[in-house]
Amino acid sequence: MSAPITLEELITLLLSGGENVGELNKKYSDYVEEHTCPLCKGVYKGYGNNPAPLKVKGQVCDNCNATKVIPARLAGMFKK
Ligand SMILES: [Zn+2]
Repeated sequence: MSAPITLEELITLLLSGGENVGELNKKYSDYVEEHTCPLCKGVYKGYGNNPAPLKVKGQVCDNCNATKVIPARLAGMFKK
């Protein structure tokens, strides 16, 4: 699981005089809230993972990312 924001993003935010605070709040709430994985229906915290190339709406949990999404991506890479 990655940090809610990078140090670079935090510095940029502080230097901006706070005009991006809304965006930071959004990022933070995405990070701490619980989400339901559309693949396994499990609950996870954090940002989740982009499910592409799987045709799934929303973000998937780390477990599905490792066991379903990444194999699908690899399969796509080797399919010519
Ligand atoms: Zn899942």
